[in-house]
Amino acid sequence: MDRLNGPPRLMIVSDLDFTMFDHEEPENLSLLRFNALWEAYYRHDSLLVYSTGRSPRIYKQLRNEKPLLTPDITIMSVGTEIAYGEPMVPDYDWEQRLNLNWDRDIITQETAKFPQLIPQSDTEQRPHKVSFFLEKPNSLEVIKALSESLEKHKLDVKIIYSHGTALDVLPKSADKGQALAYLQRRFKANGRVPLSSLVCGDSGNDAELFTVPDVFGVMVGNAQEELLQWCAENARNNPNIIHSTERCASGIIQAIGKFSFGPNVSPRDIKDWGKCRVNVLSPGYEVVKFYLLYERWRRAEVEKSDQILQNLKSSFYPLGTFVHPSGTEQPMSKCEDMMKRLYGDKQGKQYCIWLDRVSTSQIGSDAWLVKFDKWESTGEERHCCLTTVLLNTKQAEEGFTWMHIHQTWLDGMETKHRTVWFL
Ligand SMILES: [Mg+2]
Repeated sequence: MDRLNGPPRLMIVSDLDFTMFDHEEPENLSLLRFNALWEAYYRHDSLLVYSTGRSPRIYKQLRNEKPLLTPDITIMSVGTEIAYGEPMVPDYDWEQRLNLNWDRDIITQETAKFPQLIPQSDTEQRPHKVSFFLEKPNSLEVIKALSESLEKHKLDVKIIYSHGTALDVLPKSADKGQALAYLQRRFKANGRVPLSSLVCGDSGNDAELFTVPDVFGVMVGNAQEELLQWCAENARNNPNIIHSTERCASGIIQAIGKFSFGPNVSPRDIKDWGKCRVNVLSPGYEVVKFYLLYERWRRAEVEKSDQILQNLKSSFYPLGTFVHPSGTEQPMSKCEDMMKRLYGDKQGKQYCIWLDRVSTSQIGSDAWLVKFDKWESTGEERHCCLTTVLLNTKQAEEGFTWMHIHQTWLDGMETKHRTVWFL
């Protein structure tokens, strides 16, 4: 949160499975659309928060599999664990609060009396979350009997049933909604309340997000009946909660437009930037746009035209340098030759690029330093470079000149074959 100078312009608090990303979309198109939108227009002054039922372990596993952006805050294990930033620093204050009237041992003993409750894996059992699988036909009676037996022990717990399969027992003061309300109180104490907040979800354990005061909400197009039903009963007349027509991250983009939070056309949706009416002179947008062109070029999704090469040439400073992550240095003018050779080399392959953690700082009247993680994946293979670009605004026309590019491998994300990574 410290990376922002003032209150965030927008805070997005999103569930992950079937909300931020779609299990039914192996190409991750809607997630990649969201990524480009977020990094081009929102990263520099807004907050991204994930709120997931996943434990830290399977959350990290997911981040290794899907092109998910780095969030500012991660709320895990259905609101019982909060962590900050890339290093995921845990919020111990929040954990202390959850210890009130919580006794894990009693819960384990009582739930063991129900053979219908099948314990989830050890990784999903957390200090403030006890998790099971429960089949739908038995669910109502089991939940009723279990709450009665836990009440007898005077424990302040709650039972959450989602996707018709998963049952979690949590402290009464913890769920996704209360974790968010706790964050809001922290923001208020620091004078950093976001100007707008949008919560996004698809299933039962997301319902509490929609009860937090002063938030806008989107139930994504593929939302489960249990969430739609909950909203119909509890938020029927709330114009700030919508059910999008599009699935997952595309539904989130739709909500950004519907509530007029800011730009809602992902740079990925722009087919021809030359003809595009959205003319943005922003260094974040510039790097996102450049790498989208680079991806399309290598996938042969744009025409191999001299015009594109000419534009590229005019964007690179002829005397500038590019430092490849292997440590070799070359003139920027060589990047253009390199591009020529690479046309279509990824055609028909599952190849994509996304930028993460784009940060920009103006270091002179016409100079910008832009830093970001540049990710590239082909099928299962993934690589990432921490990238720094020095940009100068062009004197006579709108746009930027790329003066210098420097790349360094992100730990564990390097490739030994120099030719696999170009820029
Ligand atoms: Mg979900």
